[in-house]
Amino acid sequence: MTTSEDGFALDEAVLRQRKAATERRVYGRHVPALRAGGFMVLCIVAALQAPAGVPLHQQPAWLVLVALNLGYATIAWALLHWGAGRSGRLDLPLLLFHVDLLVWLVNLQFLEQATLFFAYFLLLRVADQVGYGFRRALYYGHVVTAGYLAYALWIAQVEPARALWPERLGILVTLYLLSLYLALTGLVTERLRRRTREAVHAARALVDRLARQAADLQSQTVELERARRQAEQASLAKSQFLAVTSHEIRTPMNGILGAAELLNATPLSAAQRHYVRTAHRSARALLALIDDVLDLSRIEAGRLQLHLAPTDLRQLVDDAVDLVDLAAHGKPVTLGLNLPPSLPQRVQADGVRLRQLLVNLLHNAVKFTDEGAVRLEVQVLAQTTTTLTLRFSVHDSGIGIPADQLDAIFDAFTQVDATSTRRHGGSGLGLAIVHQLATLMGGTVRVASVPGQGSHFWVDLPLALAPDPAPAAPAIAAPVAPDATGARLLLAEDDPVNQMVVAEMLRLLGCAVDVVADGGAAHQAVLDGGYDLVLMDCHMPEVDGFEATRRIRAAPAGAARTPVVALTADALDSDRRRCLDAGMDDVLTKPVSSAQLAAAVERWTGRPTRPAMQW
Ligand code: ADP
Repeated sequence: MTTSEDGFALDEAVLRQRKAATERRVYGRHVPALRAGGFMVLCIVAALQAPAGVPLHQQPAWLVLVALNLGYATIAWALLHWGAGRSGRLDLPLLLFHVDLLVWLVNLQFLEQATLFFAYFLLLRVADQVGYGFRRALYYGHVVTAGYLAYALWIAQVEPARALWPERLGILVTLYLLSLYLALTGLVTERLRRRTREAVHAARALVDRLARQAADLQSQTVELERARRQAEQASLAKSQFLAVTSHEIRTPMNGILGAAELLNATPLSAAQRHYVRTAHRSARALLALIDDVLDLSRIEAGRLQLHLAPTDLRQLVDDAVDLVDLAAHGKPVTLGLNLPPSLPQRVQADGVRLRQLLVNLLHNAVKFTDEGAVRLEVQVLAQTTTTLTLRFSVHDSGIGIPADQLDAIFDAFTQVDATSTRRHGGSGLGLAIVHQLATLMGGTVRVASVPGQGSHFWVDLPLALAPDPAPAAPAIAAPVAPDATGARLLLAEDDPVNQMVVAEMLRLLGCAVDVVADGGAAHQAVLDGGYDLVLMDCHMPEVDGFEATRRIRAAPAGAARTPVVALTADALDSDRRRCLDAGMDDVLTKPVSSAQLAAAVERWTGRPTRPAMQW
């Protein structure tokens, strides 16, 4: 990682390059030049020390010395300059140092005649090795001291008059101590250099680690992104699977439930009627389970949207209680309802989902109470001019729930004990849906229970108030509607079982029914005219129900206004929207009961039907 050409760098290759360039510069140019300069200085010092009165060129000793210094300086300069970076394992500066010493001693022999202490010049050779480090400076110190000692011994031999031992010993000791001192400063230099090197290493390791962590993070991000996409795809696949499964199950369920209804309308013995009702009840339970699974998966996938609309609260809770009352039929359980007089008439709510939530709680209360009372109570916890918080409480005097199970029962597929499930039925999805719906509505659900005494579930919901409806216009006596007998219906349905079942149910309601098996035929039949209502399956071969409806809406005036009601096994909100967008007036979801068919016929033809079958 290089920051710039000369700036701070940690990259090993860059540092190595820089080091080599510095070494070439220092050892190939600076050091040789300095050494040559040093010998020049020696020549000048020698000139100054030469005996006065005799011209220098007439002093042979001086001339030899200068020639020696300049000659050696030039050769050494050339060697070092050429050898920098090329000498391989041969340590040229070290080699030359030993030769330097000899040249210095020759100089000393000449210069010391003026003053003995020129010996200290030798220290320069130690000083300029300090930069190489402690060991080398120490070695040089010893070599220099030893060299001077050898020189002193030699002088004492050849010129005893210049032995001067006391002075020379003093010089020797000082030389030794000073070279030791210089070597120690080399130690400091070495330490500093080592610290710098360590700091650079640490910084490089840090940068490497950071780079590795950044790479790890990046690959983690890629992994996470892939996992997220996989999860999304899995969730989509799950939703599609559920939608398809639900559609595929609803189609035969329509046949089963419809056939059971038709069978129930025929003369049967008591035992046969019991069997047929059992089959019908089981099929409805299966359907409820499919609805629950679908609901839960839609909520969990965030696909369930609330459709807020002004909702009559009293009507809604009445309906919920009535629905469960029907189911509780035959059990010694009384179902009560407590509403405060101050309860506002209308609120903004998704009536279907709020009713589903209450029905689930009431249904459980009745299911887990063998005898006694179940009560739905509504309280106003807080109210402003535009909003209010309501508490819906469901009390029962049933079997209760052990304390250690209270938290878990809101999880999907959780039941307190398998035996009671076998006895009471259920899938363990109801409370999970209640919890999810309450959360979706911005509320909370809680439970308190005493085993053997009963349970209390309550849901707190914030709601917006809706304005009361305009007072209804005084009732005008409605014209007597013609009997549905004679209402002409077109059923567009490709499944032969459903064709038979639905057509038969409609006939029993008093309608005349024609059946076609695809959208093109439906369109043609409507053009031919005379139908009061079309019941349109959505998925048919060739031309589907959506396209057939669009064609009907584009037909000449009379035919274009024929009411079209979808009869579809698609149960999602989006499917409903698609039907309405295609121009259909209403949507019935399979399996459809004769009561639902009757309501649709009455609504869209304006004619009363014969009574629908009751179970
Ligand atoms: P299901 O009722 O279909 O089994 P739920 O999710 O509605 O599933 O309820 C989960 C479990 O919580 C039930 O199986 C039952 O054990 C317990 N439970 C729910 N409501 C009550 C209640 N009112 N009294 C006693 N136990 C209850």
